[in-house]
Amino acid sequence: MNFETRIMEPGQIEPPAGEIPHLHLPDPRTVFSRRAERFSTLAQGHPMGGFLALLEQVADLQQDLLDRFPWVALPSPAQLALSREHGLPPLSIHGWERDPAWREGFASLVEKLRGAKITAETARLLDGFLHLTPEQLEQQAARLLNSDYAGLDPALTPFLAAALQTYWVAMAARLGESTFGPGGSPFLCPVCGSRPVASVIQAGGAETGLRYLHCSLCAAEWHMVRVKCSNCESTRGIAYYETEGGKGAVRAESCDPCNTYLKILHRDKDYDLEPYADDCATLSLDLLMDEAGKQRSGPNLYLHPGNF
Ligand SMILES: [Zn+2]
Ligand SMILES: [Zn+2]
Repeated sequence: MNFETRIMEPGQIEPPAGEIPHLHLPDPRTVFSRRAERFSTLAQGHPMGGFLALLEQVADLQQDLLDRFPWVALPSPAQLALSREHGLPPLSIHGWERDPAWREGFASLVEKLRGAKITAETARLLDGFLHLTPEQLEQQAARLLNSDYAGLDPALTPFLAAALQTYWVAMAARLGESTFGPGGSPFLCPVCGSRPVASVIQAGGAETGLRYLHCSLCAAEWHMVRVKCSNCESTRGIAYYETEGGKGAVRAESCDPCNTYLKILHRDKDYDLEPYADDCATLSLDLLMDEAGKQRSGPNLYLHPGNF
């Protein structure tokens, strides 16, 4: 009797590209309020509860800002067509000229937070941010978006990130999901060209079990097969780590060939997972990976690496 050994090729265990949506934009009505709720839940009894509670307030203000975001310039139909033709993100962090509205959003967010429940130390920092010039803010924004942390003010980082995220989510929502073609790179967001904050295994409906990468800036999710490293597409040398006592809902997926890791969140194990909040609440896993000598492949824009 002959036995045939079959080896699964990447892609065989998932539907071929084209049969599943390549991209999901977040729901602009709830994207940041959901995040705020999750921060609130995770802050309870957490060693970094104060910080998570501050980010809950930040996310709440992001939703408030998004709900009333003013008109901003968007790419023209010709620019959109060109981006699609070349597989480029139309709202690229490297090419898109930022509308000054994002800075007004930043000022409004900081002023509102100034009136919220915050420590005297945070209030003092916020006061200082209101005196930054447009040039200084633009320069800091460029550093954050380019992961150029050396000249980026760690205290400013979460608030700057909040304003930039809100601006990008507003633009993407106004253009709509069908505007964006598949990106040219599987590692970068097809909307804005940013790296992912984490990857998410979906639960519920036809997409159950599929993996999507969650954009660190615009919260869009794009599909990527599970068998490949989300940083170099290697199918070998992939390993999973989690902290002691973890329930398997948040793990680090590491790759030996490129020596990086990114967290992978299982919605099938905890449906309420929110990539940003859950990433911030599991920094002990980042410490573990740092000790293992692995570099993180995508940023959490609320966090300056020098602070942790
Ligand atoms: Zn994006
Ligand atoms: Zn890799």
